[in-house]
Amino acid sequence: MKKRLVILGAGESGTGAAILGWAKGFDVFVSDFGSIKPNFRNELLERNIEFEEGMHTPSRILNADVVVKSPGIPDNAPIIKNLAEKGIIPVSEIEFASRFSKAKNICITGSNGKTTTTMLIYELIRLAGHNVALAGNVGKSYARAVAENDADYFVIELSSFQLDGMFDFKANIAVLMNITPDHLDRYDHNMQNYVDSKFRIVQNQGFDDSFIYFSDDVNIANEISKRNIPSQLIPFSLKEKSPGNGAGLVDDNILVEYNEKTFEMSIYDLALQGKHNACNSMAAAIVGMVSGIRNDFIRECLSDFRGVEHRLEKYLTVHGIDFINDSKATNINSSWYALESITKPTVLILGGIDKGNDYSQLYELVKKKVKAIVCLGKDNHRIIEAFSDIVPEIVETQSMSHAVKSAYFLAEKGDVVLLSPACASFDLFNNYEDRGQQFKKEVRNL
Ligand code: ADP
Repeated sequence: MKKRLVILGAGESGTGAAILGWAKGFDVFVSDFGSIKPNFRNELLERNIEFEEGMHTPSRILNADVVVKSPGIPDNAPIIKNLAEKGIIPVSEIEFASRFSKAKNICITGSNGKTTTTMLIYELIRLAGHNVALAGNVGKSYARAVAENDADYFVIELSSFQLDGMFDFKANIAVLMNITPDHLDRYDHNMQNYVDSKFRIVQNQGFDDSFIYFSDDVNIANEISKRNIPSQLIPFSLKEKSPGNGAGLVDDNILVEYNEKTFEMSIYDLALQGKHNACNSMAAAIVGMVSGIRNDFIRECLSDFRGVEHRLEKYLTVHGIDFINDSKATNINSSWYALESITKPTVLILGGIDKGNDYSQLYELVKKKVKAIVCLGKDNHRIIEAFSDIVPEIVETQSMSHAVKSAYFLAEKGDVVLLSPACASFDLFNNYEDRGQQFKKEVRNL
């Protein structure tokens, strides 16, 4: 009898899992509580894969042998509870797909810097001539790639929600960028639960595998001291490099050592500037060395990388004013790093949906660098309250057009206008990409 594969959520990962399951001979059923995008619906129709939308019908779901769940569906959703009562624990698309792949998995997680580091590592492995594919939150789904054409390496961006659905999967190389409080609503407001979720990235690792992590992060350092992780531990730090395998900063150079080999590069030659990006570059360089990639490829990748849209993206210079799009900065930590990386007087565009931000963490940098704040949100009172004694000028706006014009008016030649909102975008925009696109459009219109 065919095994029944039920897929909850028909986005890129769900549809990819359906295609892979279909190719592997499962009896596949896809159920989406919302509506399915036409391109995904067509792919299901083309293969005669059964699906439903706008509902989850228990009788068609609870008879599953395997359930693949989209990471967006929380554990307290009724259908997930019904499955749990029957002893069925849904897995993530990556867990499912990896059962059919022979690739080496390089996995990146963390609260911030995942996409940037994932893209850096992907470029590096590609540059070195390997057959490599992206998966996880970026690019196509892992399952689709496995169904179409398995790669030798997968570079996979993993959120904590994806990790929660992973059990037997193994990362050959695991990279943990940082852990700062985020998404705690999905973790019973318990930081340890969130830390545990991030550390699932090392589960199933053995002596031959590598765990690359940011050792300056106290949450990571504490957790490592509590555990007995069998894989090779390779730390990176913004301080001096500790002895042994790992990376650190020495006199404005990143220095990486791995099994008697050394890689060194000035931070001024890195394509991505700022301390946070030095972390991202160090993590990528270590992955390169662990994978046996030559130093000249690593250097070329780190110096020529073009960056990822909406992440400290230097967009345009208008009358000597640099406009930088960091729309992806949806929490305080990432805006902190953005400000830290800027060396010119700054007009900062801040605001949106505030998930309980502690703005005082920005005070020191704002006092040093920010000449004016432009608030961009439906409700700006928390930002005004937080910064009215700190910056000379605060302007309130509720549209991107008004925000960009105000920032342009407040800035002078030689200044920077930085959109790094520290907040989610849903009050005024569809998502952070929409916010970044609108920013760029308004800058073009100046
Ligand atoms: P993620 O995929 O984890 O959300 P991104 O690479 O998309 O991370 O970057 C998100 C935001 O975080 C950007 O605004 C960027 O400036 C900032 N950022 C990038 N790397 C780091 C890092 N290592 N530490 C802290 N913030 C970072």
